[in-house]
Amino acid sequence: MEHSRNASVLVQRGEALIMRYVTFNELKQGIEEAFSPSAAKAIFYHAGKRCGARAAKRIESQEGLSDKSSILESIRQLKESQGWGLFAFDISKQDRIVVKVQNSFEALSHGPSREAVCDFIRGYLSGVFSHILGKEIEFEEVECLSKGDRFCTFVSYVPGSD
Ligand SMILES: [Zn+2]
Repeated sequence: MEHSRNASVLVQRGEALIMRYVTFNELKQGIEEAFSPSAAKAIFYHAGKRCGARAAKRIESQEGLSDKSSILESIRQLKESQGWGLFAFDISKQDRIVVKVQNSFEALSHGPSREAVCDFIRGYLSGVFSHILGKEIEFEEVECLSKGDRFCTFVSYVPGSD
């Protein structure tokens, strides 16, 4: 079976859905209301982490990619085509990974905020990198479009690199 990367083909085949920003925002607000804002952050982070790890695994097995750069390039293209935003990965430094996301769907669906809001994407990146590096990688969102920054910037200090 051919594995399509095209978002509209995935929808036609019944393998994906299109979610409006407002729907994603309602989902987040519903969880904040039912639990608490800090619980919602943790839940979205954890769920994102599972999705990121699964995506990295799927790309390895379905697309036959094994090197870091190819997997990340595949994720960049996929997420751009799915409307998540434009991801730029900087893995040139030994001790830290920096990911910049332009037009994060999570920030755009949330709107202005005093704090960084992209916990699902932050978790997703943690899942992707934990899988491809084979160790626990956690990201922090140091800049966010919702706070008025140009990009959402995620940084991880790689354990065991100093
Ligand atoms: Zn953000």
